[in-house]
Amino acid sequence: MYKVSLITGDGIGPELSESAISVLNTIHDKLGLKFDITQLFAGDKALEQTGKALPDDTVDYIKKSDACMKAPVGESAADVIVVLRRMLDLYANIRPAKSYPHMPALRDDIDLVIVRENTEDLYTGKEFSLGNSSVALRIISEAASKRIAKYAFESAIQRNSKKKVTCVHKSNVMRITDGMFAKSCLEVSKDYPEIEFEQMYVDACAMNLIRQPEKFDVVVTTNLFGDILSDESSQVVGGLGMAPAANIGDEFALFEPVHGAAFDIAGKNIANPSSFLLSIKMMLDWLGKKHQDTKCFEIGEKLENTIFDLVKSGIKTKDIGGQMSTTEFTKQITDKL
Ligand code: ATP
Repeated sequence: MYKVSLITGDGIGPELSESAISVLNTIHDKLGLKFDITQLFAGDKALEQTGKALPDDTVDYIKKSDACMKAPVGESAADVIVVLRRMLDLYANIRPAKSYPHMPALRDDIDLVIVRENTEDLYTGKEFSLGNSSVALRIISEAASKRIAKYAFESAIQRNSKKKVTCVHKSNVMRITDGMFAKSCLEVSKDYPEIEFEQMYVDACAMNLIRQPEKFDVVVTTNLFGDILSDESSQVVGGLGMAPAANIGDEFALFEPVHGAAFDIAGKNIANPSSFLLSIKMMLDWLGKKHQDTKCFEIGEKLENTIFDLVKSGIKTKDIGGQMSTTEFTKQITDKL
């Protein structure tokens, strides 16, 4: 039995959470992999009602669980996810982008993953006013850069795809901070002679993700660049509705969609739940690896195949050209599972 904590979030978060619960319950009831799910409160609504975007009992419960699923939260995202990433030392943010048949992708041979450093850079919230100027501290350490670089190279080995790592930075302008990131990645690359290593400036990477996305395998980059490039790579393969993410540390992991709370479509039953459901697949892979539980891998694969078989047969939500509502699409998945 795996204890899963679930932050239900804001905007489309509650709709995506209902879909995820329904899928996890189906796996529990019909496929024999047992979950104990606890719904938790964090985000804008929690802030409004308790004065804290991330209440203490939510954190305590997350720490006691085997893994955490987090639906998107709204304006208070920085006080929830950014804090959790640092508090739980979830240093690697993994954002895959893969083209599947019948998706509105730029090409049908894209298979890349963005490995984003998750604990440093401009996202530590160290900002202040200095007279009429505003200042933000950009912290990049050698230790964190080497740790994420190592994660990226290990991923390139495990993916067994193009066996290439692209280190993305802007060291020609930010010579000290990105200089350190680039140097650290280069040093780590020497331990992996079997993996091709290249460096690319972030502006060139943004262009190449459109121009030749099929050339990328593992992209390793700093926090802010990774956030921006992963929204871009999601769109390149068909949109945010299909984009899952994992935040991984040495002991714990948290799974979420790449996108935010999407208030423009909240409450309309039209959100694509696949982003969150594919993050269940990432959670199953992580649990499977951690607990050497092959059933997790089998069911993760089954879930992914079910989603993509439905999409292939034209059963899909509006954001990717279909007609299904969130609940109808979820029901199709649970029926097939
Ligand atoms: P944030 O800055 O909070 O990370 P974001 O930049 O990822 O947010 P969102 O508001 O989450 O932006 O998403 C941008 C737009 O993409 C939304 O306004 C919505 O129209 C669309 N979108 C996002 N997620 C989904 C989804 N699951 N299904 C359908 N459309 C979506």
